[in-house]
Amino acid sequence: MTDFDLVPAPETTAVEIADAYGHLIGGAWTSPSGNRMSSINPANEEVLTEFSVAGADEVSAAVGAAREAFKSWSVLPGRERGKFLFAIARRIQERARELAILETMDGGKPIKESRDVDIPEAAKHFFYYAGWADKLRFAFPGREVGAVGVAGQIIPWNFPLLMAAWKVAPALAAGNTVVLKPAETTSLTALRLGEIAQEVGLPPGVLNIVTGAGETGAALVDHPDVDKIAFTGSTVVGKAIAKSVAGTGKRLTLELGGKSPHIIFADAAIDEAVEGIVQGIFFNQGHVCCAGSRLFVEESILEVITEKLHRRIQTIRVGDPLDKNTDLGAINSKEQWEIIQGFLKTGAEEGATLHSPSKGEVPKRGYWVPPCFFTGVEPAHTIAREEIFGPVLSVMTFRTPSEAIERANNTPYGLAAGVWTDKGAKALEMAHQLKAGVVWLNSYNRLDAASPFGGYKESGFGREGGRQGILPYLKVDG
Ligand code: NAP
Ligand code: MG
Repeated sequence: MTDFDLVPAPETTAVEIADAYGHLIGGAWTSPSGNRMSSINPANEEVLTEFSVAGADEVSAAVGAAREAFKSWSVLPGRERGKFLFAIARRIQERARELAILETMDGGKPIKESRDVDIPEAAKHFFYYAGWADKLRFAFPGREVGAVGVAGQIIPWNFPLLMAAWKVAPALAAGNTVVLKPAETTSLTALRLGEIAQEVGLPPGVLNIVTGAGETGAALVDHPDVDKIAFTGSTVVGKAIAKSVAGTGKRLTLELGGKSPHIIFADAAIDEAVEGIVQGIFFNQGHVCCAGSRLFVEESILEVITEKLHRRIQTIRVGDPLDKNTDLGAINSKEQWEIIQGFLKTGAEEGATLHSPSKGEVPKRGYWVPPCFFTGVEPAHTIAREEIFGPVLSVMTFRTPSEAIERANNTPYGLAAGVWTDKGAKALEMAHQLKAGVVWLNSYNRLDAASPFGGYKESGFGREGGRQGILPYLKVDG
């Protein structure tokens, strides 16, 4: 445990942010429209800029531009498309510092995460799918492959540029054209991606970006000339999208919420496991769809785990996201902060015990939730069932592996799971029986562009990443 304070190490904020932004449609930026929404820095509540709100007309114009561009982009040789993707990846790397600063200012996440995770991973996705662009025949040997058409892509606020990369890179590699709708609270880096597309000479209309709130997303989903919808966000909105797409012939992939279990056996390497659990839930303020938000501890080690968690949480530095020492930044928006506060209240009311052993004060302005965990949680408690999407861990116990599996699988979600044990056979058996799209053994939150990611049940369907991630963007014959 550290009992000293670090000298502040603030990252510069010398990045250009315009007063207002328009949309990228057909290779040109529209003037900022009269209908705008403010983007707030959640760490100090200052207005950073204003985004235009696209209505049905702008969405139609963007879809039209994508349709026009599809004619030539879809027949461009894969190796030529790949060159554009490589160029985008390299430009993301060149502009990495600026992108990381913007991501942190706009979304509240610590600079060390945006610098070391979000931006490099976004570049990696473009590099990875650039590699597939001229090898699609080999991805699906003996079969004819072709692009699907115009893809409408709607993304959330927790990994703004990275979620854009997850969706845009495979779509373009496969020869589709795109209309992207970023989240209303975090559109800045998606718009920078539009700039980058222009810088590398991506043909007009191949990537269009329209900003706005839920109505803009709905207009994109409902547009008759869109061939495929890819959505990442909440299960509620995902279900609504599934309903409106049903029967239209549009393709759909959904990456939705989660309530992922983390299971720790008494035979695990305890200190490593505690570190993995801490990273699994407190990374990015718990704004992670696959966050390990339910911890199942083998009963005999509950006391030691609780004590270690308590001590470790005290060393988590909460505060200015632009400070390079900060571990846990600001909650993304006032709305999300209120949702988390509601769960903290409900957790206590339902009889669980809150442990919030953070040191120091959080800044006066901005939206902050220090890391915390609940013990005495029952499976029926709200905090054991519903996605909190904040730095809040619910700790429960189990006695046998089969009880752990039963309790872990007792959820409508199925996105991810973590298992900590030093017994290989036990780990593999658990992985086999856990109903989750990804199961991490003695690690957590390990993602890779080459590895597919996605959920079961109410966590959605379809995969992103890897060879599987390109399939939703291809017509495969034979
Ligand atoms: P959300 O409200 O579902 O929003 C996601 C995106 O959809 C945003 O761009 C949003 O626009 C837009 N949207 C809202 N209503 C819409 C509608 N009726 N039709 C079309 N688009 C609409 O989710 P969120 O609260 O921003 O994000 C948090 C959720 O995303 C969590 O539940 C989390 O688990 C999930 N998530 C899942 C994954 C995954 O890979 N499985 C990854 C990240 C996040 P506005 O921003 O303007 O509202
Ligand atoms: Mg913002």
